[in-house]
Amino acid sequence: METKTTKILDGKALAEKIHQELTSQIQSLQAKIGRPPGLAVLMVGDNPASAAYVRNKEKACARVGMTSFGKHFPKETTQQELEDVIAALNEDEQVDGILVQLPLPEHLDAVKLLHQIAPDKDADGLHPVNLGRLVRGEAGLRSCTPAGVMRLLAEYAIPLAGKQAVVVGRSILVGKPMALMLLEADATVTIAHSRSQDIQNITKNADVLIAAAGIPGLITADMVKPGAVVVDVGINRVTDANGKSRLVGDVEFGATANVADYITPVPGGVGPMTVALLLENTFTSYLKAAKDKGILNGK
Ligand code: NAP
Repeated sequence: METKTTKILDGKALAEKIHQELTSQIQSLQAKIGRPPGLAVLMVGDNPASAAYVRNKEKACARVGMTSFGKHFPKETTQQELEDVIAALNEDEQVDGILVQLPLPEHLDAVKLLHQIAPDKDADGLHPVNLGRLVRGEAGLRSCTPAGVMRLLAEYAIPLAGKQAVVVGRSILVGKPMALMLLEADATVTIAHSRSQDIQNITKNADVLIAAAGIPGLITADMVKPGAVVVDVGINRVTDANGKSRLVGDVEFGATANVADYITPVPGGVGPMTVALLLENTFTSYLKAAKDKGILNGK
């Protein structure tokens, strides 16, 4: 009997390659620009998942030679205090990227804070100016997770033009920008969400299926078209019968891998790509700041 060989879209390996490229570019530019790129990561409170993400991002900065300015605040920090911090970071010439780690404690208005970040320092690509640029197809800082997915698809030369792409999830963080990026790549895009009916009928048509709902095991093998490319954005912590906790995606990996041609693992798929694109956005802002000051010219 023939056995199917499904290819893994290895986000961990590609992220490593991007980190290496950034490291060498930063090494060669630093003397000319007079400083390394800088990323400020704002975190409020002590949510353990957020703390782990922030540690990860700060470690990644250090590995490629970027400075990270960790801004960690107690959970009772006020909106005004955070707005003052962002205003200062917007003016700080050592800082190229600013990100606010979500979720924030309930008394804070996250959207107002995100809107306050200078669009050219919006490392997460979530400011309305950058989302607007995406809608218009203009260059700008792109939202890291969907941009990471696009990079991964490009690395494996997955064709998108004219293909049926289905995105499950419509959040401003992942689903919506993901759909726009696929549209920009000339895919025919459908977005499914919690109110969609008969999701299986929708996902079954997908040549490229992106799962970003945050529900473990939502996508089962019978929902996937044979030969499809399946990208699992979901990161869910589940506890098994023995009380052991582990991370899983939104896709039932084993059975789906037998149907799909390509699939991303969780962990090791989209997660590392998100961090790589965050660093790349910060580097892009660093180059732009140097060009605006006349330190660098040309490309
Ligand atoms: P979110 O804001 O909670 O959005 C989830 C989306 O999924 C919503 O649009 C929701 O629909 C939809 N949805 C919920 N249940 C559904 C169902 N049964 N069928 C179809 N759609 C359903 O989450 P998010 O921030 O987009 O994140 C999604 C997942 O990706 C989470 O697991 C998150 O941890 C993960 N994530 C991973 C990375 C990474 O780097 N890999 C980055 C960001 C997020 P409605 O709009 O109708 O409510």
